[in-house]
Amino acid sequence: MEKISPHHPRAESLRIRACLVEGFKSGLVVPEGLAAHGRGEAFDYILGERTTKQAERAIEATGAMLLLAERPVISVNGNTAALVPTEIVQLAEAVNAKIEVNLFHGSTSREVAIARWLKKHGAKEVLGIDRKFSTRINEIHSDRRKVDRRGIAAADVVVVPLEDGDRTEALKRLGKRVIAIDLNPMSRTARAADVTVVDNIIRAMPLLIRYVKHISRDSKTKLHRIIGNFDNRANLRGTLKFMFERLKSI
Ligand code: ATP
Repeated sequence: MEKISPHHPRAESLRIRACLVEGFKSGLVVPEGLAAHGRGEAFDYILGERTTKQAERAIEATGAMLLLAERPVISVNGNTAALVPTEIVQLAEAVNAKIEVNLFHGSTSREVAIARWLKKHGAKEVLGIDRKFSTRINEIHSDRRKVDRRGIAAADVVVVPLEDGDRTEALKRLGKRVIAIDLNPMSRTARAADVTVVDNIIRAMPLLIRYVKHISRDSKTKLHRIIGNFDNRANLRGTLKFMFERLKSI
């Protein structure tokens, strides 16, 4: 990977880009994934590349929802795998969730490459690869309709980082609780999810792991209270307000 000077004013943003380019070269990320990242970067720029208090609230609700879930699943695409492989594995371990590869632009070789990459970072099991367990969600009109019987098909809570709206809406129709991580507070995904973390996945994942550790010994009643006190629509409105204020002040 090309060396990025820590003194460059956009060093972190360049480092993230470099990660994706590496992911692209090694077959984890598709060109469309690079474009989707660009859309995310634009929103992150407006956010000031910082985690807002609204995002922290959503992260806390995410932690509580995952700890209370019976069959939580973290859905992983190429960008997510390239950016936060270690954190995906750590989060899955902390909340006892399954990890499933699920791609918009599906291909067996990329699924296998992503699963291998996650295993290299410590994942013991990665679902979504073995055809024997494959089933379909008919409402979805992309390759993402293919899911694992042991994973997303049976899940009660699904984490969908960097998602497209179709699948989020379809998962909701199937009665699942959906947690999105998406820098665009206006996307269909952001609006359809039960909890939307509007933050860069690079910042959100380590923070989420810290929150989970922090609240993991709390009673179920307290975890239910955290979720009950969280209002996704109001939180998204708060995020948009924050963005407007920042743009005005700039
Ligand atoms: P929708 O279908 O939900 O309206 P979309 O068509 O914008 O959304 P995609 O093109 O699949 O969906 O893009 C994925 C989303 O991921 C975008 O909203 C983008 O802002 C977001 N995103 C990209 N990179 C990151 C990142 N590093 N962290 C968090 N979100 C990101």
